[in-house]
Amino acid sequence: MLYRYPREVAEGVFALGGWWGALAYLAVGAETLLIDTGVSHVAGAILRAVRATGVQPDSIDRIVLTHYDYDHSGSAAQLARDLDAPVAIHAADAALVSNPSDSPGLRRLLYHRPVPQVLRWEAPEIATTLEEGDTVGDWQVLHTPGHTPGSMSLVRDDVGIVGDALIYMRGHLRPNVRHLATDIAAQDASIRRLATGGLRTVLPGHYAACTDPGAVDELRRRLGA
Ligand SMILES: [Zn+2]
Repeated sequence: MLYRYPREVAEGVFALGGWWGALAYLAVGAETLLIDTGVSHVAGAILRAVRATGVQPDSIDRIVLTHYDYDHSGSAAQLARDLDAPVAIHAADAALVSNPSDSPGLRRLLYHRPVPQVLRWEAPEIATTLEEGDTVGDWQVLHTPGHTPGSMSLVRDDVGIVGDALIYMRGHLRPNVRHLATDIAAQDASIRRLATGGLRTVLPGHYAACTDPGAVDELRRRLGA
């Protein structure tokens, strides 16, 4: 299914669009947050999408990255300058966002020099690191590692922004590709946690937002949880 963006996918939460298929979200609340930033050189498109929601880009308090991958952090450095907004990421991904060539496992190939240079990827300066139990605005930080060491989810009420812990395709919530996981056991545990955490809306980093609570129920049953 093709969606029109931006699109309000939960109260005060907008899916801004997908860049190389990587979704960015805008969340309005105690703080206005931009969550994930697509690939490099899409800052202008993201700002246009923000304006189309009726939210002024100037009101964005913080940029939060669900994890360090460059389809999520690609335009963070540019947007931090454009918005004069600090960038936050989980503590366990902070070093990797600065030095992605240190990536573990098969990820080393993705980040092997000169790939970041070819993609003209610019490491964002990290102002704040986050950990399990922290809050960002009115969102709770859940450490949901596996896809990367510092993958995290943001949860407000029954809405979860889950980065690449899960994907939503053809009506089903699924685990992300296993060969990109830095820790498969951790990824499985994170998925189980998200499936059993009472979420009704799951907003992943790729494909589409899941606003069907039935898909969460199905995932939980499939996991036998
Ligand atoms: Zn990723």
